[in-house]
Amino acid sequence: MIKIAKEFRWEMGHRLKFHEGQCKNLHGHSYKLLVELAGTPDENGIVMDYYDVKKVIAPLIEKLDHSFMVHSEDKELLEALQTLNSKHVVTGFHSTAENLCEYFLGEIKKCSLPSNIYQLRVKVFETETTYAEESSVL
Ligand SMILES: [Zn+2]
Repeated sequence: MIKIAKEFRWEMGHRLKFHEGQCKNLHGHSYKLLVELAGTPDENGIVMDYYDVKKVIAPLIEKLDHSFMVHSEDKELLEALQTLNSKHVVTGFHSTAENLCEYFLGEIKKCSLPSNIYQLRVKVFETETTYAEESSVL
């Protein structure tokens, strides 16, 4: 088994309405996603071409980049974003790093990954020093 990884970055606004500290405020992060793919290399020594990894992941990142992630139940904020005609992504979950891991795993699993890949792991960094991680066997 060999694991390969590729890093992606994006800027995004969010808030955690339930939070009792600073995270309830409108704010943003320079997010980082680390995608790790474990599998058997082919005869040329490639688990998955990094170019192909980028083709799968980049559209997911583009959707979020310079957007505001808003919970569907955060009605006031959703209305404001719509009124301002500002890029936003509506979710059914609170935009914690943990939930973003779940989100990315789900989205990546919908894409077709080569059959030699048998484990997928994502790490979502909200800051340089904090991240959440989740993995799934394919
Ligand atoms: Zn935050």
